Amino acid sequence: MKVLKFGGTSVGSPERIKNLYEIISSQSGDKKIIVLSAVAGTTNSLVSIAESFKNENKQEAIRQINDLHQFYKTFIDELFVSHDFKQFAEESINKHFDLLIGFANDLFTTAEEKVILAQGELISTFLFHLHLKEIDVKAVLLSALDFMRINEDGEPESDYLQENLQTLLQSNKNDDLFITQGYICRNAFGQEDNLRRGGSDYSASLIGAAITADEIQIWTDIDGFHNNDPRFVSNTQPIRFLSFDQAAELAYFGAKILHPQSVYPAQKNNIPVRLLHTLNPNAQGTLITNAHKPTKNIVAVAAKDNITAIRIKSSRMLMTYGFLRKVFEVFERYKTPIDMITTSEVAVSLTIDDKSNLDEIEKELSYYGDVTIDNDQTIVCVVGDFHANTHGHVSIVSDALKHLPIRMISYGGSNSNISLLIPVKDKIEALRALQNRLF
Ligand code: ADP
Ligand code: ASP
Ligand code: MG
Repeated sequence: MKVLKFGGTSVGSPERIKNLYEIISSQSGDKKIIVLSAVAGTTNSLVSIAESFKNENKQEAIRQINDLHQFYKTFIDELFVSHDFKQFAEESINKHFDLLIGFANDLFTTAEEKVILAQGELISTFLFHLHLKEIDVKAVLLSALDFMRINEDGEPESDYLQENLQTLLQSNKNDDLFITQGYICRNAFGQEDNLRRGGSDYSASLIGAAITADEIQIWTDIDGFHNNDPRFVSNTQPIRFLSFDQAAELAYFGAKILHPQSVYPAQKNNIPVRLLHTLNPNAQGTLITNAHKPTKNIVAVAAKDNITAIRIKSSRMLMTYGFLRKVFEVFERYKTPIDMITTSEVAVSLTIDDKSNLDEIEKELSYYGDVTIDNDQTIVCVVGDFHANTHGHVSIVSDALKHLPIRMISYGGSNSNISLLIPVKDKIEALRALQNRLF
């Protein structure tokens, strides 16, 4: 069985949706699970509708809902051929918009917000399923809300997923084509929730792991994983092969093409992940596997924004044993992951991207030393094969960036990563300078 995930732009217009089945049927394998994102732009619209409700700006929310509704009416009109299908699609979609409008009368909490955010994937999968019906292709629509669940820490529950998805597949065992929503799930309280922005990749990987798929395909709007961020650098190149470790580092450190957590489930179950281009289905794309032995030392660069650097300076206590544990415990208490860390004899610097408890963290850390906070930083991450017997990589990277201020540098944490912390304003220049020097 294969899992094929199509992102927002891949389902972004009636024309694109009409092309999907050709791609799906051209892929080998008899059974497939298709994971869909919301139509491009929809989740952003839903986010701003939820914002309007949150700000008690109901008129604005209703205006935005009506705009989105109008977009889907036109979409449906272009997607379906027969009057009956158009009518049925419109009536079904109206229910989603009635639900959205209904929030104007409710108390608005994060639970309502999550329900709003779930509508995009519910609509796109419904429309694709109905389109297949119109062209006489049999497929089963599975609701991700019946098998995808996160626990109280927001972590997916893979045993629950496996058990429930297998049961659903078993009860449709004569079917070959399944469609389900990416991104959405239930939470520990049974409410609708999601796997965070870009989460459809994560859904596909989790589903692939749950059914031990032969392959997970991520179909998107670019011909694979590029060696630098194509949004900021013009001469980037697709990478044909990546190891799971390299892909995981790049995704975690900002390569938008993959959700940060999406590599791990596939890696753990040794399921190849292939990144492919919906508009150019014959392009080779990128294959991510365990088997890959990199031929080039430096493979790619990515950058992650919104980073905060925290320095704790304490000549008195630093490097006495137990000091770092106390520092880490502060972050643990506030469930705040640390990305980078560097130490010296008198200070320790670390970075976080979740600032929601920064004030409390700062207060607790100040007990151990003088605390300095720098916001608006970016981690630039250079990924490659940096085993201990390789050499020269750090000097090439630092030479490329010698005209920029570097706040922190981290090397040797893994065999595949050199990370540098720079002010966000220097990010684009850093990515371009690295592109020119490294590739
Ligand atoms: P989808 O909607 O299909 O999930 P995304 O927008 O989430 O697509 O991801 C694809 C986009 O990721 C590309 O259009 C590209 O702009 C961006 N991107 C950022 N870094 C990279 C990279 N290293 N390689 C390829 N694409 C990247
Ligand atoms: N629709 C969701 C988003 O825009 C999930 C995804 O596309 O992966 O974030
Ligand atoms: Mg995406």
